[in-house]
Amino acid sequence: MVGEEYRRWEGDMEALYVYTAGVAGDRFFREIRDNERLMGTYCPECDVTYLPPRLYCETCFSELNEWEEIPNKGRVDAITVAYVDDKGERLARPKVLAMVRFLGANGGLIHVVDLPEEDVYRGMEVEVVYLPRGLRKGSFLDILHFKAI
Ligand SMILES: [Zn+2]
Repeated sequence: MVGEEYRRWEGDMEALYVYTAGVAGDRFFREIRDNERLMGTYCPECDVTYLPPRLYCETCFSELNEWEEIPNKGRVDAITVAYVDDKGERLARPKVLAMVRFLGANGGLIHVVDLPEEDVYRGMEVEVVYLPRGLRKGSFLDILHFKAI
């Protein structure tokens, strides 16, 4: 182990934390909950739309006040498969997670794809499926999954 030659204490450090969604994140989640739509922020200086939305452009540092609806259709850019849950317990059925990028947006979203891993591939077209209206709470879990189109 690196650092064994130094005087030390050994132990575990919990890394459970909560942070607020912020102004842009708050609207992003409200739009999902109330309007079933993905909204990003647009930088006219750089001609870039950010998804998830940002309050400031990461390139020119301009404050971003223009919001744009992102079309509900994207492409799988990366895939991973989870065989255990967040507590290390084996899942009955593996979960496929994908990074999906949306046309015209810088960034993307990572979420579950509702298909077995052998049916998910890079470049595959998917769309967001939302929870039914009465069940949404204004969180990322208001998105149920991505489905193939
Ligand atoms: Zn910019």
